[in-house]
Amino acid sequence: MPIYEYECGQCQLQFQQLLVSRGEEKGLVCPKCGGEDLKRLISRVAYHVSESDRLGAYDPSAPKHDSFYRDTRNIGLDAKKRAKQMGVDLGSGFEANLDKLRTDPGSVLKDKE
Ligand SMILES: [Zn+2]
Repeated sequence: MPIYEYECGQCQLQFQQLLVSRGEEKGLVCPKCGGEDLKRLISRVAYHVSESDRLGAYDPSAPKHDSFYRDTRNIGLDAKKRAKQMGVDLGSGFEANLDKLRTDPGSVLKDKE
C-alpha cells in the first residue's frame, strides 16, 4: 500500500498518509487543522527510506505526530538511537524481537504470557 506525504496549505503541517485506494485521497483533510488544501509532496516516500536513513533522521526530542506511532517501522527507533548514542550493543535478540514486533505486534506479547 502506498504511503504519501502531504503538506497542509493552511498550517503547513507535513504528514504521511497511507492510502488504501485512490478515492480515499479526495476525502483527506489535515489531521491538525482539518484543512482540505493539501499538496502531495513525494509519492511513496516510505518505500525508499531505509532503516538507517530513518534512524539518522530520527530526532528523539522532536514532537511526534500520532502517525509516527502508527507506523510500525518506527517501533524501536527510539531505543536504537539511544543505545547507539551510549555505545550499547543491543544484541541480535533485540533485532529479532523488533522484527517480530514490527511485522506482528501481537506475537511478542503472546510470547511473554
Ligand atoms: Zn493544517
